[in-house]
Amino acid sequence: MSNNVRNIYVITIFPELINNFTSFGIVQKGQDKSLIKIKTINLRDYSDNNGYVDDKPYGGGPGMVFQAQPLINATRYVKSKLEKCKCIYLSPQGQKINQEIIKQTAENDDLIIIAGRYEGVDQRFIDLEVDEEWSVGDYVLSGGEIAACVIIDAVARMVPGVLGHSDSNKEESFENGFLEYPHYTRPEIVENLSVPKVLLSGDHQKIKEWRMKQAILVTSNKRSDLIKKKLS
Ligand code: SAM
Repeated sequence: MSNNVRNIYVITIFPELINNFTSFGIVQKGQDKSLIKIKTINLRDYSDNNGYVDDKPYGGGPGMVFQAQPLINATRYVKSKLEKCKCIYLSPQGQKINQEIIKQTAENDDLIIIAGRYEGVDQRFIDLEVDEEWSVGDYVLSGGEIAACVIIDAVARMVPGVLGHSDSNKEESFENGFLEYPHYTRPEIVENLSVPKVLLSGDHQKIKEWRMKQAILVTSNKRSDLIKKKLS
């Protein structure tokens, strides 16, 4: 496992969206601890036409498309700053990200994330510079910035040392292929519903066994596909 700082650059026409998001919570803490560095690049600064970065699509049709050249210029600038990195174009057509991809990234990869807008980007930029296309789900967002924030948040919490308690992400959903067990906090009774007795017993072995059983139960109720995957 690498202990290097994780670098994430986001190329976008709305850097403020990313900068606001990344100045809160775990992501800000990760930056404070110098375990993760997040930088935004304003695509318009790489335009060779007074800040214009988009144009009408060849062949007609609605909407605008990001031109290849400003994206190429911005991406190559970032690549010149990083020894080795993955260039990710966010797209509903990409592979759907999951916890495994996030963990791999947190441990190994600096990222350049391209947030598209409008109808997307000129295909020649993808052909020349992009390593992988990633999607956050089978729906269409108006821009890649929210998807970039999803990835930054999920990666940041998996970078070793970012979360306060070193075990905080070890028992979470998708670790070991199961969803997480249910949680309870004070008070002991809420509208006649009591906390399961075992959690008050102080018997750590029993609590561990109960949580494991609950994790299996919750997973088979909510996501039987994960159980099937585990058994295959
Ligand atoms: N015309 C494109 C298509 O049909 O595939 C959709 C473009 S979308 C309106 C604009 C931008 O939002 C995309 O370039 C991409 O960066 C981002 N985006 C939209 N949905 C996304 C998703 N599910 N995952 C990741 N990025 C997404």
